[in-house]
Amino acid sequence: MTTTTPCIDAIISAVHECRIKRITCVPGYPITELAEHLISEADAEWCINEKVAMEIALGASASGSRSMVIVKHVGMNILADPLITASTHTIGAGVVVIAGDDPAAVASQNEQDSRYWGLLAEVPVLDPNPENLYDTIFEAYRISEAVRTPVIVRVTDPLLQSECVCTSQKEQVRNETEAQLFDRSIWEYSMHGRYQVFHRDTYPLMENLSETSHLNRCTGEGGEGYGESCIISSGYVSGTVESILRRTGHIPHLSLSFVSPLPLTLIRDFIGDRRVLVIEETAPVIERQLQPQSRKILGRQSGHLPYGGLGEANILSAIENIGKDEIAPDTTPETLESRGFTRNICDDCPFIPVYEAIRSVKKKGVLIAGDMGCSIRTAPTGVVDLAYSLGGAIGIASGLPGKGIAAIGDYGLVHSGLQALIDAEYKGRDILVIVLQNMVSAMTGGQEVPDPGGIIRECCSDVVTIDETAGKHAIERLITEKRGVRGVSVIIVCGACRRCERLIQAHP
Ligand code: SF4
Repeated sequence: MTTTTPCIDAIISAVHECRIKRITCVPGYPITELAEHLISEADAEWCINEKVAMEIALGASASGSRSMVIVKHVGMNILADPLITASTHTIGAGVVVIAGDDPAAVASQNEQDSRYWGLLAEVPVLDPNPENLYDTIFEAYRISEAVRTPVIVRVTDPLLQSECVCTSQKEQVRNETEAQLFDRSIWEYSMHGRYQVFHRDTYPLMENLSETSHLNRCTGEGGEGYGESCIISSGYVSGTVESILRRTGHIPHLSLSFVSPLPLTLIRDFIGDRRVLVIEETAPVIERQLQPQSRKILGRQSGHLPYGGLGEANILSAIENIGKDEIAPDTTPETLESRGFTRNICDDCPFIPVYEAIRSVKKKGVLIAGDMGCSIRTAPTGVVDLAYSLGGAIGIASGLPGKGIAAIGDYGLVHSGLQALIDAEYKGRDILVIVLQNMVSAMTGGQEVPDPGGIIRECCSDVVTIDETAGKHAIERLITEKRGVRGVSVIIVCGACRRCERLIQAHP
């Protein structure tokens, strides 16, 4: 039976039909909503960070359970270590990583394109569109079990918010082979030998699966179109391209969803000697790989399309200009002013006294290491100066001169900040760590965070706890006092996230 369903519901149905036993998630835009649905409906769980989420999935896979990992795009950096090794170490039952990309960095610190992990980790990457997202989940498990590596499925917010086509595959899944266990014969090979096996057997199999995949689809051959041109697209925007072409005239269009390894023979045959416009989000991943394939590749590098997210107007303009070799791109970067709004912390945030105290003690030239999460939003008002990664504040403060100051949320600390704290204490570094403790991951909607107080006290000797109600002056006095002490000092400031309280009241 074929139905049309919101994409999030379609993924949940696919999870049930594919008999996925272990689902591990880490919150973050744009996958929080999907993960929350799976936690309430399919026994998924939040993990402390993406590496742990990936490791649990690999353990489940080795013992024969299909598993799924759901993270945002920057989370892919954290799970990269076991992911990359998994391609040559091999897995048991299928492992699928859903990577939530954020074209245009709507709610993220960067707009990295998760399809690049296919090139580095040498695992298959699928980039579905609304027509084949549901089918893609099934295909991802079949591919993962055929090549014995994890498979990445890249999604974006527009894709997750769209409607997608579902055709039940229960029967087919029931007929698939029994649960696949980890094959420990891989230990007969050296680490180098595993790469040799991978490049002799596994990678060619991946290429073959990509070349023959029904997820890649051609339309519009024989149409009048715009002369000797064609289009290659990938992922969500393939649907936008199709709807534009239905209105404006048919240009041959190859919609790709199996994007790593790229089906280069299929692409070469499709392009022939035509010029090709490549339409993809977020980076020119396919466009760069096609450079030797065609005499004329159009896309971001020719100025036809902007970097980042693509709207219908961008795609329409690129198609209308498909006859031109180059377009002068608009290279004016977006500023906070031109965007027209700034994301600040909440007016009733309990940590406002902390930020005010930091601003008071901050001398000219002193840098404050902040973190992802709410503290990054104080940067435009001059509180934190640096924020490179979730959990990164303590390590960054350790590199600052004098007694560096780190402002870090309790979620950032347990996600990946604790190692830097252990390192600082062990090495006797001079840093002041201000932990903003609200027991939730506030920016992503209030997921619970374990209390790190006990671990901090085990690890560090100079630890003070203060409540936000003590006020700015008391917190400022404490910061000034601790800045005068050598070694690692930790101030834990406790307060309840008002926004999360409001969310709970609205959705008890
Ligand atoms: S979400 Fe919570 S912790 Fe973050 S700024 Fe708002 S009130 Fe403060």
